[in-house]
Amino acid sequence: MKGDKFLKLLQIQNLELEITRVNNSIKKLQGQAEDLIARIEKLKEERERLIKRIEELKREIEKHKVAIEECKKRLRRAEETLKLVKKAEEYKALLREKARNEDCIIKLINNLRALEEEIRALEEKREDKRRIKQIEELTEELSDVRYSQSRLQDKLEGLKSNLEKIKEETEREIWLEYENLKRKYGLPIILPVDSMGSCAHCGTKLPSALYSRVIQGEVVVCPSCGRFVYYEREA
Ligand SMILES: [Zn+2]
Repeated sequence: MKGDKFLKLLQIQNLELEITRVNNSIKKLQGQAEDLIARIEKLKEERERLIKRIEELKREIEKHKVAIEECKKRLRRAEETLKLVKKAEEYKALLREKARNEDCIIKLINNLRALEEEIRALEEKREDKRRIKQIEELTEELSDVRYSQSRLQDKLEGLKSNLEKIKEETEREIWLEYENLKRKYGLPIILPVDSMGSCAHCGTKLPSALYSRVIQGEVVVCPSCGRFVYYEREA
């Protein structure tokens, strides 16, 4: 193969391989970003549940306070009326009413204390502080991932436009040959021989006559896998 053509094919191939690599990296970062978003959402939901529960408790506490006031009012009314009644039956009924409201007040106050205790525990929970910190950290991580993604995206655009330019500059014949080889073998179609004189793709050791031609700078076809092999001089 002529040197110019070989260099052209190698250039096209390396660009395409690089585009594939960058594309894969972008996909991997996208996966990471999605994972981070899911984790952040989950933490936010947990926080929302906690906040909702605290709101519920606050409403419950208000209800209890109103109910306690009601019982107190009824208790006072019963006490006031007790002073006025003469009939024993009425008196007994009022005593019962008084006792009922006293019980009610005690019970409600106990409930109220328990609710206040629960709300205090929830508000002081270290777990929530840990969550807030985690959300911050994950959000920062996400923005790093997004940044890397956009950098790679720019790189990808650059590579693609390079490839387009090379395609325009390349003789149609060479381009078609490249496409044919790619269809036939899959990338890579051109590879260096390794230090042992073997094809870097299939590992077959080149016959010594072939190898010496490669060393002299010729591009040859691997007898085993059909790909082009060349000798890569150390820079
Ligand atoms: Zn081979």
